[in-house]
Amino acid sequence: MSLKIIKEAVAGKKMMCPKCEKPIQKFEKYAETVDAVREGLGFTDIDSRGSRVTLTCGNEGCDWTERTEFWSQYITD
Ligand SMILES: [Zn+2]
Repeated sequence: MSLKIIKEAVAGKKMMCPKCEKPIQKFEKYAETVDAVREGLGFTDIDSRGSRVTLTCGNEGCDWTERTEFWSQYITD
C-alpha cells in the first residue's frame, strides 16, 4: 500500500522537497519491489513500504528529482 501513502502525502502537501523545502508536486511509480526482508540474529524485519518512485519537486526554479525507495524520509507530519 505504499503508493497510496505516497499519493496521499503528495496530495496533502506533506512530501517535502529537501532542496527548496516546498511540497513535492509529482511522483511516478518506478518499481514495486518485493517487500524487503531483513534477517538478523533472532529477528526478521519486514518492510512493507517497498515501492520505488521517482519524486519530482516541480516547483518553479527547483530542478530536484530523485529515484528512491526511501521516500518516507521526505514525508512530514
Ligand atoms: Zn524543490
